[in-house]
Amino acid sequence: MDKIIFATGNQNKMIEIRMILADLGAEILSQKEAGIDASVVEDGTTFEENALIKARGIAEAARRMPEYQDAVILADDSGLEIDYLGKEPGIYSARYMGEDTSYDIKNQALLNRLSGVPDEERTARFVCAIAAAFPDGTSQVVRGTMEGIIGHEITGENGFGYDPIFYLPEYGCTSAQLAPEKKNELSHRGEGLRKMRRILEGNSEGI
Ligand code: IMP
Repeated sequence: MDKIIFATGNQNKMIEIRMILADLGAEILSQKEAGIDASVVEDGTTFEENALIKARGIAEAARRMPEYQDAVILADDSGLEIDYLGKEPGIYSARYMGEDTSYDIKNQALLNRLSGVPDEERTARFVCAIAAAFPDGTSQVVRGTMEGIIGHEITGENGFGYDPIFYLPEYGCTSAQLAPEKKNELSHRGEGLRKMRRILEGNSEGI
């Protein structure tokens, strides 16, 4: 395996991906760096389905380019599940209340919906599915999670998205108060990427 292409335009994700997959020895490119100008409609009903749809869709475009015949295409789909809300916002996390609505507003709306709900019922998790599309046409998907509870106020400046309301009882802070390295160590994406790394290590001889 000489090339891995990750179907994202998000530079923060690319930094994390490069760190975790570095010792595979493959060249790691974002979809943009690879010059693949394709988009895929993520119309699956689970994180896993959406990650697979994206990886397979981008792989189809990549295989039309001679330099990417042997590349492995990776894609992810992630979000926040709040148990009290029937696992909302789930796969709609980015689209919850509209893509252009600020996270201050989204986070406050979720806090309002949980107003008066005791801590035992505020359980939640970040989920990240990572899918790989291999040159032989097969694909695989793994899931990483980070468990916590929804806090009572917006707290912390690090991270992004729903981090300021995601409280980690064992650390006594939200994921927006963790140092970035610590969040990578604990996060759903970190766990998913490490699981995928083990799969890629197992596949690297045949590719
Ligand atoms: P996507 O996988 O890039 O589509 O992201 C889905 C959405 O889930 C993001 O826009 C965030 O709203 C949320 N999300 C995923 N991972 C995290 C995280 O680590 N912290 C905070 N929000 C997250």
